[in-house]
Amino acid sequence: MISPALLDRFAALVGDANAITDPQDQARYLIESRGLYRGTSPMVLRPGSVAEVSAILRLASETGTAIVPQGGNTGHVAGQIPREGMGDLVLSLERLNRIREVDPVGNVLVAEAGAVLAEVQKAAEDVDRLFPLSLGSEGSCRIGGNLSTNAGGTAVLAYGNMRNLCLGLEVVLPTGEVWNGLRRLKKDNTGYDLRDLFIGAEGTLGVITAAVLKLFPRPLGHEVAFAGVPSVAAALDLYAIAAGLCGPALTGFEIMPRLGVEFTQKHIAGVRDPLSSPHAWYALIDVSTSDAAETAGRMMERILEQGIAGGLVEDAVLAASEAQRKALWHMRESMSPAQKPEGGSIKHDVSVPVASIPAFMAEADAAVAAAMPGARICAFGHLGDGNIHYNISQPVGAEKEAFLDRWREMNAIVHGIVIAHNGSISAEHGIGQLKRDELAEIREPIEIDLMRRIKAAFDPAGIMNPDKVLSARR
Ligand code: FAD
Repeated sequence: MISPALLDRFAALVGDANAITDPQDQARYLIESRGLYRGTSPMVLRPGSVAEVSAILRLASETGTAIVPQGGNTGHVAGQIPREGMGDLVLSLERLNRIREVDPVGNVLVAEAGAVLAEVQKAAEDVDRLFPLSLGSEGSCRIGGNLSTNAGGTAVLAYGNMRNLCLGLEVVLPTGEVWNGLRRLKKDNTGYDLRDLFIGAEGTLGVITAAVLKLFPRPLGHEVAFAGVPSVAAALDLYAIAAGLCGPALTGFEIMPRLGVEFTQKHIAGVRDPLSSPHAWYALIDVSTSDAAETAGRMMERILEQGIAGGLVEDAVLAASEAQRKALWHMRESMSPAQKPEGGSIKHDVSVPVASIPAFMAEADAAVAAAMPGARICAFGHLGDGNIHYNISQPVGAEKEAFLDRWREMNAIVHGIVIAHNGSISAEHGIGQLKRDELAEIREPIEIDLMRRIKAAFDPAGIMNPDKVLSARR
């Protein structure tokens, strides 16, 4: 496969201490957080500079060695995991983690790809600015991974996803050439948008080494409410009221089912249901304003008043402090981890047009119940973005392995309904290995062909993250 002499040449580029071959030291780079994919790699490389990344890719191109970029290894579709037994080298960006510049006047921050998202948020906060990307994994995911998956998270409604938060990129191409596209222009209509090709490419076109990110004023007013609602349709009507009243001040509108709230209370320390009686569904509403603190309070009051008057809100609580706001969001962000102790969970990260959410949910629930009686549906997520994490927990007492063996069958059922509603089978997490074959089936041949042509133009040797997004074999 890959000769010891060639491995020595790669190790010499970063130094032995950053060329990991010991199986125990490698372990954390080779398995993803859900444990669904495990890969192997003859060597994990940890370059400490752009020049080292460039030297690695040049050697990889010359020798036809496959490279798998990795950030925080929190991705959900195994794009960051090397293939088994294929000689893929993992290229971890974790040492390339400097924040190069913070400019509160130009409202930009320049971060290297390995900077942890929470540290970027903190660097913005230190100059009284906001970097709004916020995810459950923010303590460990890294900017290069966020860009490469075009991450979404909890504030997409107001600020957009990672594509909307990035002005420029620095990228090392598979040949080792460095493209310095670290522009900070809001307006730049000069030909094809190369930046947008790398964002969301999941490491298949090159290695992002740094980015210019947008900063925003820190909101003066911030209100979070947790409302019990009778149905998904009621939640959607409440969303329409909130969007109409708040416009861009509506920062998040999430839904959670009763089952998910029960799971978090059972399995996540410190989570409690703030409402006195159970409700079928819950909406988490987040409003933030930059003009005056009182505006957010008034907006939230009007949302709840109109929701109660229209029979959409059965009960609600307003967070009275920053600690309470965090506690409510913690419940929402714990929905996924709280499912783990309940056994196997088959996941779907889907989006449909917002108005189609109730119909999609009703159809999917009926189809899943028919295919797998007893399956426990825990569908939650970013209702305002049309993005639902449609997760299915195994029936009580079922055998986990047998349940997970039905992953593709359940995906086919749910994704079929998503496509019938003109939706997407990957709203946030990307394609990676998990959805690669499905992508090829659901997209028009012309789209797959265009993607292949782009891949071939950037990476003619086929060394960048092969078999991710697109199959390396035709
Ligand atoms: P990795 O997992 O290391 O890599 C992801 C992909 O990017 C891989 O294909 C990898 O090859 C590629 N890549 C990484 N770095 C580079 C680089 N520098 N250059 C080129 N390619 C690169 N995602 C959301 O969108 N929204 C959420 O709300 C959300 N919540 C999450 C909550 C939890 C608890 C967890 C565990 C994950 C969540 N995720 C969410 C998924 C995940 O955190 C994001 O996809 C994140 O952006 C991945 O960042 P990472 O640094 O961990 O990337």
